[in-house]
Amino acid sequence: MDKSSIENCLFEATTYFNEGKYDEAANIYLQIEKYSQYRAGCHYLLAHISNAMNDPLTAYELYYSAFKEKGNVISEFLDKKHKNHGYIFTGMIEEKEFKNCILCGKAGEPYWCYSLPESALFTSDFNPVRMWLKCNDCNHLFAKSFPENLTDSYDLQAREDIFPYYEEILNMLKTYCKGNELLEIGIGGCECALVARNMGFNVFGMDINEKQVEYARTQHGLNAEVHDFIKFETDKKWDVIIMGDVIEHVKDPVAAMQKVSELLADNGVIWISTPDFESEFTIKTGHNDPMRREAWHINYFSKDSLYALLRRFGFLVMEHKESKHYNGSMEVIAVKGE
Ligand SMILES: [Zn+2]
Repeated sequence: MDKSSIENCLFEATTYFNEGKYDEAANIYLQIEKYSQYRAGCHYLLAHISNAMNDPLTAYELYYSAFKEKGNVISEFLDKKHKNHGYIFTGMIEEKEFKNCILCGKAGEPYWCYSLPESALFTSDFNPVRMWLKCNDCNHLFAKSFPENLTDSYDLQAREDIFPYYEEILNMLKTYCKGNELLEIGIGGCECALVARNMGFNVFGMDINEKQVEYARTQHGLNAEVHDFIKFETDKKWDVIIMGDVIEHVKDPVAAMQKVSELLADNGVIWISTPDFESEFTIKTGHNDPMRREAWHINYFSKDSLYALLRRFGFLVMEHKESKHYNGSMEVIAVKGE
């Protein structure tokens, strides 16, 4: 085939692909991949198709075949303005492997496979392909591998537009708690902490990110410290613990919940938000759900897996909502049982 016939074929395949006619598109890519110049791109798209057709293992092979064939294959698929347009795969990074469910220890099964550089949040600290494994017992998804020692270097500032959102949450929490000692794990942009302080809570915030703690202290005069909360030792107990978008980042959610349980006063209340892979938004958005390509998330909870984890430490779920603020996230209020 000459160049223009190949390009015509690829154009036809793209149309099929966009219409979800994957068999038709795949047949064309399988013919074109014989031409070395087009091989990486074809493998990349075949990977996408394999995943969409519930064959994540083949998708994994094909994505890596594409990245190994052509380190900058992603540039064929990303807009020039995309942060990762210039990403080049130069070899595998050593990552910690998770073969077994990080909640219950049973073997996970390959479930979804995505190319992470398609998300602007990806950095070259990660390998470019994410395999999500599923534990059918817990109904929980977890990353097959993740870099061993990696700290997110996010730089967040308070967004006043979300103050009313936290005010609503804190008002609801007030109906379940008796005291006003509030701990926020992962203080981030400080929105929740600032609103809580205004509402009369005595706020203590922690974050693994030094920049955020510095920001909380110097810009807002908040009481905050740098800690990996799982290793945090204290005799103090809090009436309210806020854990917004933290648990999906944690390598050991069981240890995390154990610690939360220890830090919480009797009859204390916790608020947790985390993406729910079975949320209405996620189901509707399907393969375009950005959370599936979120490199920094190790866990992808369902209502089942989150509730089971909470029950394990004696928590009773009192409220459940789909987030108004983060598409596809669930927000849960739970109290420590007797
Ligand atoms: Zn499990």
